[in-house]
Amino acid sequence: MTAKILGPGATVGILGDGQLGRMLALAAARLGLRTHVFGQEVDSPASQVATAATRAAYDDLAALDRFAAAVDVVTLEFENIPTATLDHLAPQVPTRPGAHVLRVTQDRLLEKDFVTATGGTTAGYRAVDSLADLESAIDALGLPAVLKTRRFGYDGKGQVKISARDEAGAAWARLGPAPCILEAWVPFERELSVIVARGVDGAITSYVPVENRHEHHILAVTLAPAGIPQDVAAAATAIAEAITARLDVTGLLAVEMFLTADGRVIVNELAPRTHNSGHWTIEGAATSQFEQQLRAVCGMPLGSPAVIAPAEMRNLIGDAAHDWPKYLADPRAKLHLYGKAEARPGRKMGHVTWLKDR
Ligand code: AMP
Repeated sequence: MTAKILGPGATVGILGDGQLGRMLALAAARLGLRTHVFGQEVDSPASQVATAATRAAYDDLAALDRFAAAVDVVTLEFENIPTATLDHLAPQVPTRPGAHVLRVTQDRLLEKDFVTATGGTTAGYRAVDSLADLESAIDALGLPAVLKTRRFGYDGKGQVKISARDEAGAAWARLGPAPCILEAWVPFERELSVIVARGVDGAITSYVPVENRHEHHILAVTLAPAGIPQDVAAAATAIAEAITARLDVTGLLAVEMFLTADGRVIVNELAPRTHNSGHWTIEGAATSQFEQQLRAVCGMPLGSPAVIAPAEMRNLIGDAAHDWPKYLADPRAKLHLYGKAEARPGRKMGHVTWLKDR
């Protein structure tokens, strides 16, 4: 059976209500699609611009049933949606990506096993469920290493670097008894990401690899394209596409990677959604990542990911958003603000993109 193509007038349900949902809803409006966001925040970034919004918990089955009845397809902007939520929705409405994707990408151990099974390289890793496991993982992997919770980590949260053996107890006291993994430290030269789109029919297309610079564990700047040799870009793209196909993603998969000084590409993390490192595509690519996700989940043909002009994207974090008049005065800056009332430290409030001359 060929899947139905959803076109203008259709309603896309979005699980999650942050800035990614907001930009998805804005892109949907341009394509004549309606959006209905499902999230928990009052006056959320996405609900401010979506056609409709439901504010409810992800385990509120009655609210999920009403949501399913009101939309033509369900996608997501947040990867920690409980898989039970998608399992409940799936018999009622197509969910793209499906729960099988989240099961892998929500768990760092399953994720690394999956990448390895697909032929990708990861940092050395071991499952850690006790202090004794941690001690033997340190024996196996050496130091420095990073202890990470298997689930619910983001922007450096839920992880502790261990540089000396006597730090193991304190690290386990901080993160245990949550199931963890220990990862060998990767002395990387750069951080890269590749965003892959895969349609309902299995068609795949990718944006160029980009370089990401972090400050205080949060993405600060993305440079697109990454200044890397062709063969490295090809290798990064090939592994990202192989993972996307094998994981049977419908929608987007963002693949974060480390590049070592000797040219090895090491996969760090997967996110089955639009990604902060893809915001440059709004101005810098023929099709934005937000439009691409909508095309993919609606069964429309995928758009061209071609670079229109090299771009630099800078996040506006916390108080940096108060500088908005400065960016409005810069004729080359494209300002995006997410409608968040309070500029708390570490909070992503907006971003700015500059297109460069080729
Ligand atoms: P993650 O939450 O896994 O994306 O990690 C957040 C950031 O911590 C990464 O973007 C890296 O800058 C750093 N990091 C995480 N894991 C490692 C590792 N195994 N080796 C070196 N740096 C790491």
